[in-house]
Formats: sequence, structure tokens, C-alpha cells
Amino acid sequence: MAAARTETPAARTLELDVPDWPAHRPGQHVDVRLTAEDGYTAQRSYSVASTPGTGRLELTVQRIDDGEVSPYLVDVAQPGDAFEVRGPVGGYFVWDDADPAPVLLVAGGSGIVPLMSMIRARSAAGLRVPFRLVYSTRSPDITIYADELRRRQRDDRGLDLAYAYTRGVPPGWRRPPGRLDGALLREAGWPADLGPACFVCGPTGFVEAAANLLVDQDHPADRIKTERFGPSGGGAA
Ligand SMILES: Cc1cc2nc3c(=O)[nH]c(=O)nc-3n(C[C@H](O)[C@H](O)[C@H](O)COP(=O)(O)OP(=O)(O)OC[C@H]3O[C@@H](n4cnc5c(N)ncnc54)[C@H](O)[C@@H]3O)c2cc1C
Repeated sequence: MAAARTETPAARTLELDVPDWPAHRPGQHVDVRLTAEDGYTAQRSYSVASTPGTGRLELTVQRIDDGEVSPYLVDVAQPGDAFEVRGPVGGYFVWDDADPAPVLLVAGGSGIVPLMSMIRARSAAGLRVPFRLVYSTRSPDITIYADELRRRQRDDRGLDLAYAYTRGVPPGWRRPPGRLDGALLREAGWPADLGPACFVCGPTGFVEAAANLLVDQDHPADRIKTERFGPSGGGAA
């Protein structure tokens, strides 16, 4: 690990120097394997957060308090530590920048990570494909990439953002805390007849609920790509 930066009290971005890191496609992940001194190993998947083609691999990890691997990556690992990384992995949950269709990104919590790689890729390539992000997060203080998203909302033409705060809202926010619902998705997403490419990522329960809302709004199933981060039942983002 070359460096780390704190994103929120519960999440940290790890910058890894991987010799000959190939350009990844936005949305792909890597498998990280940790090995203890006694030989015990644990492996978990983490989405690539960084812009494709920069030569550096960035992962953003959110701590699951009773988890085995994420507390180590968020709180303990230090620059200079070495991990085994395999990847990039996955050819399904990727945004194809040659597809001119508008894009709808729906993130729950740390599900923002692969979607951020798509946002960064679009910007780095100077593309104007319209992107809309609907981001479900508990509260402003634990919203991953909040500052960068604020800046990009101002500077990246054709990128629109909407938040669903599930527990605590910013001062003056017009909606009470609550889960992502069909009304917000209709207001902040794209109508199905524009044929958007939809990417939904987050805890399993969140992904299932959001994908169902999109299907209810007539988005065809083959335009809704999903990535589930956690076990079933992890509904609140
Ligand atoms: C393709 C893919 C990409 C991923 N990308 C990221 C990423 O970019 N950033 C990131 O932080 N995580 C990501 N994850 C989740 C990650 O792989 C681990 O599952 C997560 O870090 C928890 O690992 P752990 O060892 O700390 O917890 P574990 O020891 O595996 O689990 C501890 C407890 O937490 C529950 N749990 C596990 N994962 C979750 C979860 N996501 N939500 C709620 N409860 C959970 C388990 O059921 C168990 O009860 C990704 C998962 C996949 C499959």
C-alpha cells in the first residue's frame, strides 16, 4: 500500500502500487487476500474506485464493525504493507463508454465505489453522456466522496445528483429521512423510454429493492445491471 486517505469516519481509500496494473474497466473489482503470520488467509472483493488508465489502483473500504477484513483495511493497514491483489475481475458490471445511452447510477452506501469509477472515467475521457446518480446514504457525515461529488456536480457537465438520506438529513433538506422510493427514482432518474443503462450497487437488500423499483417503472431487466456487496437482508444503506 502506497498511501491511505480517510473518506469518512467509517471508510478509507487505499492507494495501491501494483506493478504492471492493467487498465481496468469502470465497475470492475479486485480480490484482496490477506495472510496472517500463521498462514491463515482471508479474501474479499473490493471495487476499483480509481480512474481507469492512471496506473494506480485505489480501493475504498467501508468498515463493517463485526467484520473480519474491512476493520483491518480501514483502521490497521499502513503504507508499506503488502497485500495480494488479483484482478481486475468482472466483465458484466461495467460501463461501456462507447454506449451513447444515458446512464442511471443507483448507489446504496459503499455501493458508490464502482459507480464513482464510472463517473471519474466519464470525466477523464471528456465524455458528455448524461449521467444521473441517485445515492442512498445514512447521513451527510458518512457519505463517501461527498466533497468530490459536490465539486463534480458543479463542474462536470451533464452529471446530476440526488440523495436519499436514510437517517439524518442536512439542515434545510426538503425531504425527511427515508429510504429510496419510487417517487425519488422517478424524479431523479431517467424515464424508461430513453433507454438508459442502469447500474445499481450496494447491500443486497438495497439492490433488490432498487432494481424492483426500476422494473416497476418499466425499465427492461436487461438494462439493469446489479452488484451486491453484502449478505441478504442488509437493506438499509
Ligand atoms: C464484487 C464486490 C465488490 C465489493 N466492493 C466493495 C467496496 O468497494 N467497498 C467495500 O467496503 N466493500 C465492498 N464489497 C464488500 C466486501 O467484499 C466485504 O464483504 C466487506 O468488506 C465485509 O467484509 P468483512 O470481512 O469485514 O466482513 P465479514 O467478516 O465477511 O462479515 C461480517 C458480518 O457482516 C456481514 N456483512 C458482510 N458484508 C456486508 C456488507 N457489505 N453489508 C452489510 N453487512 C455485511 C456478514 O454477513 C457478517 O454478519 C464488495 C463485495 C463484492 C462482492
